Amino acid sequence: MTALSSGLMSYEEALRRFDPVIGLEVHVELGTRSKMFCGCPTDFGAPPNSQVCPTCLGLPGSLPVVNEAAVEAAIRIGLALNGEIAPWCRFARKNYFYPDMPKNFQVSQYDEPIAVGGWLDVPVDTPDGARTMRVDIERAHLEEDTGKSLHVGGATGRIHGADHSLVDYNRAGIPLVEIVTRPVEGTGALAPQVARAYVAALRELLRALDVSPARMELGQLRCDANLSLRESPQAPYGLRTETKNVNSLRSIERAVRYEVTRQAGVLASGGRVRQETRHWHEDTGVTTPGRSKEQAEDYRYFPEPDLVPLAPDREWVEALRSTLPEPPDAHRRRLQADWGFTDLEMRDVVAAGAVGLVEATVAAGASPAGARKWWMGELIRRASATATELDALPVTPEQVARVQAMVEDGTLNDQLARQVLEGVLSGEGDPDTVVAARGLSIVSDDAALLGHVDAAVEAHPDVAAKVRAGKVAAAGALVGAVMKATRGQADASRVRELVLDRLGAAG
Ligand SMILES: [Zn+2]
Repeated sequence: MTALSSGLMSYEEALRRFDPVIGLEVHVELGTRSKMFCGCPTDFGAPPNSQVCPTCLGLPGSLPVVNEAAVEAAIRIGLALNGEIAPWCRFARKNYFYPDMPKNFQVSQYDEPIAVGGWLDVPVDTPDGARTMRVDIERAHLEEDTGKSLHVGGATGRIHGADHSLVDYNRAGIPLVEIVTRPVEGTGALAPQVARAYVAALRELLRALDVSPARMELGQLRCDANLSLRESPQAPYGLRTETKNVNSLRSIERAVRYEVTRQAGVLASGGRVRQETRHWHEDTGVTTPGRSKEQAEDYRYFPEPDLVPLAPDREWVEALRSTLPEPPDAHRRRLQADWGFTDLEMRDVVAAGAVGLVEATVAAGASPAGARKWWMGELIRRASATATELDALPVTPEQVARVQAMVEDGTLNDQLARQVLEGVLSGEGDPDTVVAARGLSIVSDDAALLGHVDAAVEAHPDVAAKVRAGKVAAAGALVGAVMKATRGQADASRVRELVLDRLGAAG
């Protein structure tokens, strides 16, 4: 066996010896204006503890009231995942103590979730081309979010090494829907890609439903990735680990891959995988142990006595079904036809998670080809250089559409447009602001350009002589010299016309 020095097994060897089974638990923060059980606002980034009331602080005597918009969103999510909506279900108290949870219990759902079963078809990019995998859904249930702890004074922001901690209850009570898959078998070596593709497809669906912005970097979509290995596809499941709060698509893929190599190393050396939660470390690319789950935790669930059961009216459920967006795969096919993209072009856009970005850029006025060019070119390059998700780059589809509009009206060429995008990404403001501040528009004044043309002719007399003698192809060197002198701020085809005209050569 090719054990690595760290005790990990190489991924290839791990896949020859073991069959991975994954499972994904995704928490999505609903984009409702108020919290799950009180009227507090849910705005992101408000001053700490400014969006709280007796109910979400768990003060004695306060009573919860269910947010209808949250129930509606949960039902639409359940329906869009092809699940059954429970005719009757209850909330339950999940009892545990943690400082970010002021009531000492979380109102969740236990054995009576609002949505049961279903599936999501996930496009997976494989070495042999695009393939669709069906991921079965176990359940989707409603619950409330906890607050946030901030550990101050340590180097890592973790509790270890901190000298004190602060707690912010603004997030406590924000509605969450937790979506749990059934164990996903049969992925083989594609397990990490399937995990990633599932979360990407779910995110696309949630956005299409307009139930959440689902921005992972803001914690609006949080993923726990379960993984176990077994000797063969016929063997019973192995013991699994649950890697918590993996907060980007890229990290999901890396975390699952890492766990495959780690667990394979443990098993191959005769060890036993501990059933536990694990923490993902983005910087080092490893997981480390968290809580043991060897004994089932006893949360002493019981039905929430302060809330009546939910019994969604069938007519309401059917009315909500009629509000569902086009299913994502049909939507993608329609967009591809509208945009005129080839299969390969569309596959790249899907794999990059850029469908929504291209769509929004087109909606802001760009041509589909123009929108694709920037997102799949300059911007994806910048995202991967900084290990950022494409949609977490600090540039909006509207700004990309504006840059493309300036290219189309001749204000910018591609090279200048890249500089404008760089300015936008580094926080210099909108494209128009960057163009003005950096003086980036194309020099379209022929008189100014002719000065540069004359200088180029003078500096390269041998090239100029060739062009005069009819070797029009040689003009490229002179055009290049002018482009360099104008720092790229000229329209190269106009410069070429001026060069040929000056030298009496026909284009
Ligand atoms: Zn409140």
